[in-house]
Amino acid sequence: MSIISMDLGGTNVKAGLVKDGQVTARRILKAHSEAGLIKNIPYIERAVDEMLEENGNELDSIEGIGISLPGIVDFKGKRLLAINKKYADAVHFDFNEWVHKKWGSIATLENDARAALIGEWHYGAGKGCDNLIMVTLGTGVGSSVIIEGKVLRGKHYQAGCLGGHFTLNINGKICSCGNVGCMESEASSNVIADMARDNPGFRQSLLSTQDDIDYRTIFRFARDGDSLAIELLQHSLKVWSAGIVNLVHAYDPERIILEGGVLESSADILPYIRDYIDKYAWTPWGKPELVRAANINWAAVLGMYHLVKETI
Ligand SMILES: [Zn+2]
Repeated sequence: MSIISMDLGGTNVKAGLVKDGQVTARRILKAHSEAGLIKNIPYIERAVDEMLEENGNELDSIEGIGISLPGIVDFKGKRLLAINKKYADAVHFDFNEWVHKKWGSIATLENDARAALIGEWHYGAGKGCDNLIMVTLGTGVGSSVIIEGKVLRGKHYQAGCLGGHFTLNINGKICSCGNVGCMESEASSNVIADMARDNPGFRQSLLSTQDDIDYRTIFRFARDGDSLAIELLQHSLKVWSAGIVNLVHAYDPERIILEGGVLESSADILPYIRDYIDKYAWTPWGKPELVRAANINWAAVLGMYHLVKETI
């Protein structure tokens, strides 16, 4: 079975051809998500068409199209219900009509973090385990949950996917979601540059010599001994760890899968979070495992393959 799978992220759009559980062709496009979805459509269509052509795939062989989105998705009704800033015009956009008109196919939609966890559950680091949570540390912070072999969606499709928006700091800033002091507004790629610039120590820090401040810069300068970079790094590690302990207490996982751009910056993140969980999580049955995703960057594309297959 072959499908087209698209992961419409805030930073990149990833498109893949998936055949029998393997991604056989890939395209990564820069997402202009602040411009909305509609403006990006011709550009996405062209990339998918080129990918099909170059790989000799006839449209007839495509049995469905999976689309994962960074927002609250009505899986049954095939609609994006709400999104945090990016792709604002995609809310209530008729994805099914779009893919039907363009490729004569049927769309399956899901939240991106949930799709990534389903991908890892069937084809990656979640294999053989039916109690999983996944946390994506990237532009924002995403989460998703499988309990006793069931993907947690909830009545309004928001169960399990708002783990990045649990309050960690009641005196924190207002998050882009509207809540106060979320994991996402306390430590994510979205906010780290502003946090550095707002710090009184910024002018004395090497970070002030950089036009773009991201976690790669923070990790690098922290290794070089820059005190602001070290402070921000320690703060971020604590926020992510405490956030994950909250998720362990909420969802009772046997295994936690981590993914996201931030993990590419350092191998030190996993051991730090593992030690924190061992110290602070209340899990009298034992310790949940903490692992990195196996299908780095492509888990959501694979998860959509599984969902399309199930729908057919
Ligand atoms: Zn939030």
